Amino acid sequence: MSENWAAFFYLVAAVCFIVALKGLSSPRTARLGNVVGAAGALVSVLVVMAVHRPDRLVWILIAIAVGGAIGTLAAQRVAMTAMPQMVALFNGVGGAAGAMVALLELAEGTSDAVPHLAVTAFTVLIGSITFSGSLLTFAKLQEIVTGRPMVFPGMRWVAAVSVAGSLATGVWVTLTGSVLGAVLLAALTLGLGLLLVLPVGGADVPIVISLLNAFSGITVTASGYVLSNTLLIVAGTLVGASGTLLTKMMADAMGRSLVNILFGAFAGGSTLGSTTESDRPVRSGGPPDIAIQLGYARKVVVVPGYGLAVAQAQHTMRDLTDALESRGVEVTYAIHPVAGRMPGHMNVLLAEADVPYDKLKEMTEVNPEFRTTDVALVVGANDVVNPAAHTEPGSPIYGMPILEVAHAASVVFLKRSMRPGFAGIENELLYDQKTTLLFGDAKESLSKLLAAVKNL
Ligand code: NDP
Repeated sequence: MSENWAAFFYLVAAVCFIVALKGLSSPRTARLGNVVGAAGALVSVLVVMAVHRPDRLVWILIAIAVGGAIGTLAAQRVAMTAMPQMVALFNGVGGAAGAMVALLELAEGTSDAVPHLAVTAFTVLIGSITFSGSLLTFAKLQEIVTGRPMVFPGMRWVAAVSVAGSLATGVWVTLTGSVLGAVLLAALTLGLGLLLVLPVGGADVPIVISLLNAFSGITVTASGYVLSNTLLIVAGTLVGASGTLLTKMMADAMGRSLVNILFGAFAGGSTLGSTTESDRPVRSGGPPDIAIQLGYARKVVVVPGYGLAVAQAQHTMRDLTDALESRGVEVTYAIHPVAGRMPGHMNVLLAEADVPYDKLKEMTEVNPEFRTTDVALVVGANDVVNPAAHTEPGSPIYGMPILEVAHAASVVFLKRSMRPGFAGIENELLYDQKTTLLFGDAKESLSKLLAAVKNL
């Protein structure tokens, strides 16, 4: 294939990636966006094969088969609730691949121009940070290690020395093209990635996944420069830019600054929550009482959260809201940007149950409506409705905008126990006079409520 045709197909692939990103911005078009993006990736791989006529084709095909098989199996098997872990792993392998490409290029001595060597060193640096940081994030989310902030005495100094050492080694590699220096740089920055993620805890972990996603994009961009491949530069820039925007949006949605997320624990561990269950009295109700509350309400706002995904209760919830609507109750869904365990988690779940999009209301739109709401039905959500975000300055979620369900005339929580949510902190709203709890798995509770509403 000629250079010109290759450039043309790279352009086609780049347009596919942009169209894919646009498609992914709405649940209606997300599936199509995904297919278009995958088609762009396929075109890219085929063009690279055609242009470079690889001499180790068999090895490459074996690698593609093994990687493809692992990816397909993982994508098919992963539970919806474990999706963030998978994204963390994907980010990590992206970073590792970029760093290894840079190391190999250096070993082959492709170029000794200082700008080229500087980008090569940068690729090793950012790729290694992404790899180790992502693995630790995975371990935190998978609860292989504690999800709480981890700091040790003198950590600030270790971090400062590691940063200085990495920069100095980076300069050494840039000036000399030393392979040994690059390996040392990789080792130092692998440590830096761990130091970056160790102090991050609780509800801030998802923001770090998004940040590492942006890092993996930057790694790909830099490796595109190292390999003189335009498509890698375009694709990496798209991932880097969208990851950075998502990180900013998530941090804003939680009322946090990135500096506070990354370095907050150094400054005094304010992100430590309490995971103890309280033995204070709460008001729990049975399905028949709560069905009366719901069935005779004028307006009900459903607040879905992580527990809805765990229970896979979205279809039952849809049936319940249909039953309520057929009784003339006005029902809407309040969507918090970080409800669940990944951005858009609730939108995906509700789309699975064919909940019409116009029934989903964003936080800013729905918050003023709680004052005129009879029942806020909180299904497996906790942190995103926790008033501590407004009232407790020491709390890990302080400053995070929440769904203000406390303004509704009454609140019903469906959950299994008094255990706290992801951030590991108590929710005072559970003890409020206007709150009723229905304990149990959300799917079972919703089925019981559905039966009781039908019997009204
Ligand atoms: P939370 O984790 O705060 O609360 C989930 C609630 O669901 C818990 O109270 C739990 O209580 C209940 N629950 C769990 N399983 C079930 C079940 N089978 N049936 C009924 N209830 C169940 O979830 P939220 O959605 O309110 O908040 C999301 C949190 O996760 C935030 O802190 C957010 O920052 C964080 N996060 C968000 C990400 C995102 O991008 N959206 C990614 C990662 C984290 P019990 O155990 O008693 O049943």
